[in-house]
Amino acid sequence: MQILPYNDNIQKFIRGFFIIKNFKIMLIIIIASIFMMGCGNLEVLPVENSEDSLEIHFIDVGQGDAILIIGPNGENLLIDAGTNSNTDNLLSYIQKQGVKSFTAVVATHPHEDHIGGLDKVIDKFNVQNVYMPRVTHTTKTFEDVLDAIERKGLRIKSIASGVRIPISFGDAMFLAPVSEGYEDLNNYSGVLRLQYGDHAYLFTGDAETLSENEMISEHPPELLSAKVLKVGHHGSSSSTSKEFLDAVKPVYAVISLGEDNSYGHPHVEVLERLENSGAKVFRTDLDGTIILKSDGKEIELLKEGK
Ligand SMILES: [Zn+2]
Repeated sequence: MQILPYNDNIQKFIRGFFIIKNFKIMLIIIIASIFMMGCGNLEVLPVENSEDSLEIHFIDVGQGDAILIIGPNGENLLIDAGTNSNTDNLLSYIQKQGVKSFTAVVATHPHEDHIGGLDKVIDKFNVQNVYMPRVTHTTKTFEDVLDAIERKGLRIKSIASGVRIPISFGDAMFLAPVSEGYEDLNNYSGVLRLQYGDHAYLFTGDAETLSENEMISEHPPELLSAKVLKVGHHGSSSSTSKEFLDAVKPVYAVISLGEDNSYGHPHVEVLERLENSGAKVFRTDLDGTIILKSDGKEIELLKEGK
């Protein structure tokens, strides 16, 4: 605890009044300041949730996706949960960040490299909402997730274009799937757009060109544009068309994939398209876990390194 003289407390209060936009924090400071004025020379109360920044962790889970979003108000999201074999790593990573609960977990689509660890996440953490597209799968992994949801007494909320996740620090809306039925499971991928402050982040799961084209037709350009793009389907050439990149106009592109994977991801065509778009590319196979932090204006990017 820090001890400040009385005058410093007044100055701190006035400064805080002008710079802190968060009403809740301001209220705490006002109450704390009134308390301190009444008592003269007293300690400054710790301000809860004073962190105003958003953190996005593209966790290195090998060939798969797992994206942890730590919101400013303790509202956390998880988009996908990697493979079965990476589950222990994922759980310990989330715990190390001090995360205990999720406003929502999102299973973009039912492939094992996206939902492998989701059953354990639901078991271990306090999960308020589970979002999944309207499609089933016959695998044990998928059944494990359904069992975990049932054990917790949760109900699945369906992902569709226009559905929003209720968060207070920004806007989280799904842009896909636009249609109700697809031949390829990848195209059922929930594509989430998160707006926080000045910037938007687009998380595409494994959505392929068919879904990308639907999004371009369905949504106004301002909804598609995003500063950061989680590149679709681990950098496969079946996603990330030139037209989609022209619409999104990402400054940063993150590819989540495993080293020496058997699919040849990322495909060279996608790397070329990304280079031509001017986006700066980050890859979990080369950079390890990639962390973005933003106060809503600046974006800071950290790489775990390998
Ligand atoms: Zn995948």
